Amino acid sequence: MILIEKKQEFYQALMDKNTDYEGVFFVGVKTTGVFCRPTCPAKKPKLENCEFFKTAQEALLASFRPCKRCRPLSHPSQVSPLIQTLIEAVEENPSKRWKESDFNELLVDSSTARRQFKKRFGMTFVEYARARRMGLAFKQIRDGEAVIEAQLNTGYESSSGFRDAFSKIMGAAPTKLNKYYHMLMLKAAWIDTPLGLMIAISDEEALYLLEFVDRRGLEREIEKLRIKTKAQIIPDSTPPLLSIEAELNAYFKGTLTEFKTPLHLLGSSFQKLVWKELISIPYGQTRSYAEQAKFLGKQTAYRAVANANGANQLAIVIPCHRIINSNGDLGGYGGGIARKKWLIDHEKQHKATRY
Ligand SMILES: [Zn+2]
Repeated sequence: MILIEKKQEFYQALMDKNTDYEGVFFVGVKTTGVFCRPTCPAKKPKLENCEFFKTAQEALLASFRPCKRCRPLSHPSQVSPLIQTLIEAVEENPSKRWKESDFNELLVDSSTARRQFKKRFGMTFVEYARARRMGLAFKQIRDGEAVIEAQLNTGYESSSGFRDAFSKIMGAAPTKLNKYYHMLMLKAAWIDTPLGLMIAISDEEALYLLEFVDRRGLEREIEKLRIKTKAQIIPDSTPPLLSIEAELNAYFKGTLTEFKTPLHLLGSSFQKLVWKELISIPYGQTRSYAEQAKFLGKQTAYRAVANANGANQLAIVIPCHRIINSNGDLGGYGGGIARKKWLIDHEKQHKATRY
């Protein structure tokens, strides 16, 4: 999320085509669905139609596609023909999952592609394709049910690939809901936080999943959830989704230390045990993996405990960020180390002002 004051500043930079802001932000234009560099020569959008992002990956995950005029993915110098070929291939079929053989077909060496993409965009080609694919799937969730209905009514075709992208990740293609009356429906919502965009999935009673949208492995995680519950996921609002959004707001303000939104834990009995133990770690405190294993009475199952922590699907709410290495190092985090550090510091600070 980018702060209001920053939005004004970035918007001014956009109006001025200020080159100082190259690489500082990208702007997504809601009316056209593209994202641009600050210096894009195209007609400038109105402020209310702009969404600002710090990285291209975030803009892709927020369902925007790269602008053809300013080519936000080719700054600062022109991209190689190899990168251009691959970006075009993704746009042709955004729902595709890339395999080694696909690179061979395009006469492209996958390791060269990986290296060039990483150097240019800070993400590998596979990560780029994934961000674009997930972004398309998320579009439904961001735009809400009304959009699906409108598209169905006008016989929307999947030329943009977004219907395919959606169904591959979220379940059967969005369609008239009554056809699926026999299926469990899970509802998904999009939550904007100071640490980035999150996706939340619930039924009418409880929250099943809460993750940062750029988390590694999120795509598989959502698929697993869908297969385990035999559910279809559609964009909607539920009491747990409204509750978690309000609670996250308060948490990030530092006024909430304990989440009350009901949770549905989907895992083995051992995993559930580990997750419940995580919830019992008080706000603002950290614990090592070894201590955590001891609390559980499973000193020898240290690795299994660490794996169960890693399998947590309810970021922040089940505070796996409160588990650090015995030597004081932060250890790993699915949402990235920077976020883990931020969360630990945030809690320490607000715990200090509280007591
Ligand atoms: Zn542009």
